[in-house]
Amino acid sequence: MATTKDLANLIFPNINQTIEDLEKKYPKRNLPNGAMVTRFAPSPTGFLHTGSLFTSLVSARFAKQSGGVFYIRLEDTDTKREIEGSGESLLKQLAVFDVIPDEGYLSDTKEIGAYGPYKQSNRSEIYNTVIKYLIEIGRAYPCFASQEELAELRKKQEALKEIPGYYGKYAIYRNLSVDEAIERIKKGDPYIIRFKSMGDHNNKVAFHDEIRGDLELTQNDQDIVILKSDGLPTYHFAHLCDDHFMHTTVVTRGEEWLPSLPIHLELFDTLGFERPKYAHFPVIMKVEDGNRRKLSKRKDAEAACSYFLEKGYPKYGFIEYLLTIANSNYEAWRNENLDKSPYDFKLSFDKMSLDGALFDLEKVESISKERMAYRKASDLEKEVESWAKEYDTNFYNKIVSNREFITEILNIEREKDNPRKDYAKYSDIYPIVSFFYDDVFNSIDKNSLDWTIMKSKGELRDVDKKIVKELLTEYMSTYNVDVDEETWFNNLKELASKYNFTADRKAYKANPMDFNGQVGDAAGFIRLCLAGRKNTPNIYYVQKILGKNKVFERINSIIEKF
Ligand code: GLU
Repeated sequence: MATTKDLANLIFPNINQTIEDLEKKYPKRNLPNGAMVTRFAPSPTGFLHTGSLFTSLVSARFAKQSGGVFYIRLEDTDTKREIEGSGESLLKQLAVFDVIPDEGYLSDTKEIGAYGPYKQSNRSEIYNTVIKYLIEIGRAYPCFASQEELAELRKKQEALKEIPGYYGKYAIYRNLSVDEAIERIKKGDPYIIRFKSMGDHNNKVAFHDEIRGDLELTQNDQDIVILKSDGLPTYHFAHLCDDHFMHTTVVTRGEEWLPSLPIHLELFDTLGFERPKYAHFPVIMKVEDGNRRKLSKRKDAEAACSYFLEKGYPKYGFIEYLLTIANSNYEAWRNENLDKSPYDFKLSFDKMSLDGALFDLEKVESISKERMAYRKASDLEKEVESWAKEYDTNFYNKIVSNREFITEILNIEREKDNPRKDYAKYSDIYPIVSFFYDDVFNSIDKNSLDWTIMKSKGELRDVDKKIVKELLTEYMSTYNVDVDEETWFNNLKELASKYNFTADRKAYKANPMDFNGQVGDAAGFIRLCLAGRKNTPNIYYVQKILGKNKVFERINSIIEKF
């Protein structure tokens, strides 16, 4: 009579190593007490989900703040969903947001670390070694069930209102004799390998999740597939082997994995491998019409990290946003420690939310705006340039044609105590500053500028262009921006009042038609002439940057049409 050992040898004739050999090859890591080994384990399915960036950033921080190791493992066992080259592009996107592994998969030809290979499709020998052992001890077996047999099973369970799946008495092939199994394999019958569960769904398994605390979950009793017909392992089984031999101390992953945790615990226990700790991270949610739902790749552009890259959210803003949703006390800490790096904050599992982290694009904007305002102009120039190089060629060409010019523009009301908060992302910049560039200014339709001014709240009035022309002509003849901003404005006020544009708001409000307009309107005319629109960055600085000649040229090009 054949033994399970014979069966194991028949299935894996080329596996000569044992689990002990693997333990020796991948010894315990030599790390200080409390150091965490975490990982990010993406599947190369083509895009980096915002939720995955969140998970990876936070996982990396836990490892780094504890003096541990953060590594990347490419989970490419689902060949149907794989998109060529996406592993490498994931790594590039992660790097933009500072998620840099200490170890692991870097590209299809490059990895670092002593615990590899870090790409699952290259780890078959490891998986097969463990499966071979499981077969030998009678805890894994070949299953020959056809699609028809499985469909039949499902129907039967439905009719009897039984829990669906492949387990216990419904696990048709779990008690097949070794001789029969050998015979069918020799005959060439197709099969997969299943784990033989000893669990019972009437029983519970106790577990402590780092975020969720003590949990009681229903035991696994399913004979899950561990090796598929393509020779690759399933997630559940690969996770067991990889996190064991790579010595992950805390498995940090999305809460969608919580329901399958009992499978993983049974696998670890069966093999006598020490269970890792687990921290199941909250899913990223969104509020829509008052209801919460998962951020969805199909419905929400912001579900893909590429969205933030394309729009040009600065990494320091976006990372901070992710930290605010990671730990409820981050923001308060940040406000007290503005001079520190966000990475000086110590993340903790017990400050993570349990019921889904709410994604709030407005908050991403406001944090980014706040942080961007405090960048030095020269740093911001570099950031914008490298963003534009990839995402806005037109702007990029303008930037590199004169870097000092854009730096000066970016420096308007920056590098001071209360800087202006105009930009939340790099793509906000060009629409606001494009008028500085002559080709853009020249393409403005000068005949259709809006010369109306405010009469009263919500009501506009036309302005007498003859007066505007006189005012601006005199403005040019007394032009002086070599004084401080206040003096410049006081001079403008004086000039404006000469033309009956009042500085007295109350008087204007009471009797607007007694005046030609208000002082602010005069500044508005200068704006309109220099930029072709009423909203611009501080016009005093705009003039300084454009220079007198250009200021005159632009004003003249407009008033000559009156
Ligand atoms: N490849 C799995 C995923 O993308 C990884 C889950 C885990 O981190 O264990 O969801």
